[in-house]
Amino acid sequence: MSVRSLQAEIERDSLEVARASYREISLYSPNRAPCRLDVSDNTNLWGPPPAARLLLSDAADPVITRYPRAYADDLKAAIADYLNVSAASVVTGCGSDDVLDSAIRAFTEPGQTLAHPNPSFAMVEIFARMNGLTPLAIPLETGYDVDADAFIASGAPVIYLCSPNNPTGSTLARRTVERIVNNSPGVVIIDEAYAEFADGDYLDLLAGSDRLIITRTLSKAFGLAGLRIGYAVSSPALAREIEKSRGPYKVSSLAERAAIAALTEDRGWVVDRIADARESRAKLTEELRNRGLAPIESQANFVLVPVPRAERVAVRLREIGVAVRPFPALNGIGDAIRITVGPWPLMAECLTALEEVLS
Ligand code: PMP
Repeated sequence: MSVRSLQAEIERDSLEVARASYREISLYSPNRAPCRLDVSDNTNLWGPPPAARLLLSDAADPVITRYPRAYADDLKAAIADYLNVSAASVVTGCGSDDVLDSAIRAFTEPGQTLAHPNPSFAMVEIFARMNGLTPLAIPLETGYDVDADAFIASGAPVIYLCSPNNPTGSTLARRTVERIVNNSPGVVIIDEAYAEFADGDYLDLLAGSDRLIITRTLSKAFGLAGLRIGYAVSSPALAREIEKSRGPYKVSSLAERAAIAALTEDRGWVVDRIADARESRAKLTEELRNRGLAPIESQANFVLVPVPRAERVAVRLREIGVAVRPFPALNGIGDAIRITVGPWPLMAECLTALEEVLS
């Protein structure tokens, strides 16, 4: 038997024992091959925060040899201080991916529905399927707000919203979010992975709702994507349920220490980098418009640019050393590429490459 047919047989056998609802799930596989200029994943292109960086190189042995705190209590305290909330209302996890997955699992039974906007963060549909749920995609409206009535009418036990939304960079209108939060039968998750780059956020709504969960991350503004730290803020009762679903020891000791250093000692650095990102974003948007393109107004650290044949454009850009994220056939938008905002010299390089590919 050839190696290939043996492999096919092993795969067939293992599929027979796999969970039926997993058959439609593929592994997440954006093209992550190293590239000279990578503006594809919305991380912090200014580098890591300095106190966190120092801590990583100076870690003591027990930080490596011993287990971390089961539920990252010190990190929860640092996040609570950063957002001015109580530590009991915070849950941490291995990236906000982990926190989203755990939250979805905590408030649903297999077979139920998760309502989410389309387009939005692609992983949410995968998390829904991973937990045996049926994802219900509700199209974004013209102007990139969501249809509050459609979300409320869905009756879904979990509604996912994202503001600023990935990949559009647009924020949701306050009255729409308030209507959904006040009238939905189940929990509402607002994914605020990019909130630090925006003019406002929805943290204040937590005081008036015991069904609202806001997720955030240290992967974007805080420059720590490689350490995988995310968190949710909600009522203490919901936080406890998410924590049960998440399980212990999800944040490594090193990541916890570095995140605490960033949250306590690097805040000034982070604020300055956010200001840099907002300045670069405005300039990039303007320069793209000057080139006849129509980027969507963004409140995040990336800009979505509609272009025909986005996948082909991304391949050609990669050939000349620039990685962007292509989005083919986005609902209501069509083909587009997403560019992470970074220091201006990198943006200038990206614009030159784009001009070459689009000419
Ligand atoms: N939410 C949104 C909207 C995102 O874009 C991302 C990362 N691409 C995440 C959550 C997950 O980020 P992390 O797991 O690194 O916290």
